[in-house]
Formats: sequence, C-alpha cells, structure tokens
Amino acid sequence: MKYETVIGLEVHAEMQTHSKMFCGCPVVDSTQTRPNVAVCPVCAGMPGVLPVVNRQAVEYALRVALALECSVAQTSLFARKNYFYPDLPKGYQISQYEDPLAEHGRLVIDTSAGERLIRITRVHLEEDAGKLTHVEKDGQSYSLVDLNRAGVALLEIVSEPDMRSAEEARAYAEGLRSILRALGVNSGDMEKGVIRFEANISLRPAGSPQLGTRVEVKNLNSFRALERSIAYEVERQAALLDSGAKVDQETLGWDEPNNRTYSQRSKEEAHDYRYFPEPDLPPLVVETEWVDRVRAGLPELPRVRTQRFIREYDLPASDAAVLAAEADVANYFEALVRDARGIAPRLAANFILGEVFAWQKTSGERIDELKVRPAMLADLLERVTQGEITLLTTKTVLAEMLASGRQAADVIGARGLTQISDGVEITRLVAEVIAANPGEMEKYLAGKESVANWFFGQVMRLAGKRANPAMLRAELNRQLAQKRPA
Ligand code: ADP
Ligand code: MG
Ligand code: ZN
Repeated sequence: MKYETVIGLEVHAEMQTHSKMFCGCPVVDSTQTRPNVAVCPVCAGMPGVLPVVNRQAVEYALRVALALECSVAQTSLFARKNYFYPDLPKGYQISQYEDPLAEHGRLVIDTSAGERLIRITRVHLEEDAGKLTHVEKDGQSYSLVDLNRAGVALLEIVSEPDMRSAEEARAYAEGLRSILRALGVNSGDMEKGVIRFEANISLRPAGSPQLGTRVEVKNLNSFRALERSIAYEVERQAALLDSGAKVDQETLGWDEPNNRTYSQRSKEEAHDYRYFPEPDLPPLVVETEWVDRVRAGLPELPRVRTQRFIREYDLPASDAAVLAAEADVANYFEALVRDARGIAPRLAANFILGEVFAWQKTSGERIDELKVRPAMLADLLERVTQGEITLLTTKTVLAEMLASGRQAADVIGARGLTQISDGVEITRLVAEVIAANPGEMEKYLAGKESVANWFFGQVMRLAGKRANPAMLRAELNRQLAQKRPA
C-alpha cells in the first residue's frame, strides 16, 4: 500500500543566559567544565530552597516565541513534572504544562518542492536535567552525576504534525536552529547538546484523514540522525502495516552505529508525571509593553535576510542562503559590501564563500575572530578593481593577510605582487614565451586556435600571475597576428 509519512518535532533548546533558570548559578559549557562546579542548593534540590524566575531567560523565550509568530500568553503557569531519575535531584522538573508561555506559531521552510508552512503548537519554558555518565570499570558498572546542566533554562518548541518527509523535518530543524542563533539565545552547537530533537513519526494510508499511531524517537543530536531515523521508521512501519500488523506507540532511541531505532519504553510503561501547579512560583505575567519591546528588538531573521540578499545584491539563491544563515557571517558580508565602494557584491560574496571559509576551516577561527576585518578585505578588493593587482594574486595576498593580519598594501609591497601593467614589460614577456616555443607556434599557425590560451597561461606563469590580464590578452593577440602569413 502507499502511505503518507506524518512527522511532528519536539525541539529542546537551552537558553544560553548568564545564569540558570531558577538560581544564580552560571551557565557553563558542560563539555569544557569540571563536573559539579556550577551547583547551588537550589539546583541541587536541597530541601527548603525557593526558585526565582530568571527574567533574561523569559526574555530569550519571548524572542523565540515572537520570531515564530506565536501568540504570547499574558499569564502562564509553571508546573511540576514528577519523575524519579538520578539526573533530576529534586525528583521533579519545573516545566509549563496546561498554560504555556506561547502557542499557535508558524515557521516557513524551503524544500525542493517549494515553500511549506509548519505550524507551531506551543513554546514553553522548563529547566534542563543533569548529565549522567555510565561507566564500566573493573567489572563494576556505575553512573557519575554532573549537575552543571541541572536547572539551565530550556525552551521546548513543539510543532504540529505538519511535516511529510525527512527532508521537510530537516529543513524545519535547520530553520529553527538558525533562528535561535540569529536571536542570540542558543549557539546551535549540537555536539554539545544545547539543541536536541525528538521526532514523532507515523504513517497513514495515502489520502486518509486520520493520523496513524506514532512513535517518538528521542535525543537526536544531529540533522543526519534526524533524517536517518525518520527514513528507518518509514520503512519499518510500512513493512509492519503491509504485513497486517500494527505499529506500537512507543518511545524509541536511535542507535547511531547500527543505523536503527530501538525500543526504550512502550505506551504501557509511559510515565505518569502527576503534573500539578508549582507552589513555589507565582504565575508568570508578561506585560504587553515587554512583549512589544522584545518584538521591536527582533533582528532580521535568516530567511528574510536571504531573500533580501537575492534582491538587493543579485546573489544566487544558494549563496545568499549560506551567507544569511549565520548573523555574524551576514553582518561581515554586509559590512564588506558597504566598505568596498565600486565592488560587485558577487565578488565580495565569492571571496567570503571561497577563501575566507576555507581559511576558517583550517584555522578554526569564527568569522568575528578573523584578523582580516571587513574594511581590510574591502581595501584589498578595491585594489583588484583598480587594477593594482590581478584577481589571481588576490587569493595569495588574502591568504597571507588572514594568516598574519597584515594590511593588503604591506603584503603586496613586501612580496612584489603589484600587477604588471607596463606595456613594454608585457610585450617583452609575450615575445619571450613565443620565442621559446617554436613548436607550439607551428601548431597555432597550422590552425590550432587553442594554443593561444596555452600561450596566455605560459606568459601569466612567467609573470608570476601578476600580468594585467586584459593587456596581456591584447598584446598576445597582436604578436600572434603578426606571425600569421599575410
Ligand atoms: P508528548 O509529550 O506526548 O510527546 P507533545 O504534545 O509534547 O506530546 O508532542 C507530541 C508531538 O507529536 C507533536 O510534535 C505532534 O505534532 C506530534 N504528533 C502527534 N500525533 C502524531 C502522529 N500521529 N504522527 C506524527 N506526529 C504526531
Ligand atoms: Mg513527546
Ligand atoms: Zn544553582
């Protein structure tokens, strides 16, 4: 039978504020910090302590909710979600349940089939749990508990079951991640677990209005895992349904090495969280002026910026999307275009997408750490447009600028890279190459036109790539024409 795939995503994103959601402990990078150094009685769940809401975390959450065009509740409520697990010292997680911070949003994504609108069900605030490390040593197995992450503000973003393929789920996840980064609330660093995805996946006969039974795949921490787990489930569920069996509603894990899902718990084992309103926190009231202020302060979002780049700078769509995906990169590009007078934005874009990105890959530097600031790169590109250096040499100069932080003028001067625009010198170089290659000349005269390009390359090489290309071409044509028998 033919089935339609239905996917809804739950996304957990840490709000990277200075301090945790309900206490003053700093938010630290768990992968870089010694365990249990950012812990206090509140986030360690000692008796008698009281939580206090972090205003900055609420503000970050508002940014996300508004960027996703949600309606924000004036009053939302915190609740206790009770479960017992060693990474949760209080024995409950403070979350929002029936009255979340925001609901009814939307995110437009781009897929190979065009634009699609994915509805957002809700956006709510909660706190993260600690981290367990399971150890096997000397025949013993035990677990280590690190509470640095416990109590960090976490935003849960739940979509409607509006996605129809792994490709759409990925586009949604990527779109959301780039919005979180653009809003400055989350680094998007999936290896560090600051964003985690859960995919709810079901199949139904094509054309059926009812939803099928869903499974939920937990803790997907890469786009690849997200796509692969969906592909795997689509096949597994289709085979089950084809054989007349039913899909069990269950929670699955993703076995990355073996590329398959595995059962974690069935519906019967599902937790009863016994939610009840958090007695230690008052309702969260968000005044209209606050919401208005946050909305007014939202940056231009990546998708809108991409479309503006295409329009304003005449960039190919794929280049525009890459440049606009990260606010830092997009800002660098726009500063460059602004600084570099008379330079085609496409040329500026090519240097960022080519040389600059390649350098970042080897050096590991973020774009805001580059020694070459936009004004310095603009200065370099202006020298190309003005004919001081060739486009070919520019790459050499830029590579050296990126490594050393020196100005374009210094590098060009020190290495003698100034373009050769001296007619006498170019005439001499062309004559030298022609004289040294009589065999090629014969072929040319016998009608092999492509030899002209070969000569061009040879002269350029002799000139250390510095010859003014237009002058070289003209001079070469002139000397070749002279050799032709009249
Ligand atoms: P739970 O806590 O039980 O996981 P949530 O409301 O937090 O419930 O999340 C449910 C998620 O599952 C939502 O993203 C929703 O769109 C999705 N979903 C619900 N029913 C289906 C279904 N039949 N197939 C696929 N996804 C579904
Ligand atoms: Mg769920
Ligand atoms: Zn604390």
